[in-house]
Amino acid sequence: MNSNKRHKKVALSGNGDCRVVFCPDCGTLEINLGASTIRTNSESLNILSSVLNHAKVRLAQMQDAAPANGNIQQMRLGRIH
Ligand SMILES: [Zn+2]
Repeated sequence: MNSNKRHKKVALSGNGDCRVVFCPDCGTLEINLGASTIRTNSESLNILSSVLNHAKVRLAQMQDAAPANGNIQQMRLGRIH
């Protein structure tokens, strides 16, 4: 497990505290979220990307479905314990 070789990381994308960094030398992808770093690979990045997109769509659907007077809050209150 010697890694004396210099790894030149490239920032692929970034916005605020969120960044995706790629290392062409070993093919490692890093997702930086504030103080947290998730090491991953391109396959996982694709999965994460589609899961996040799906979550966004579902969240928008739920928010659209919720009446302005807060039906979702009532449902949540009824489900506590
Ligand atoms: Zn590397």
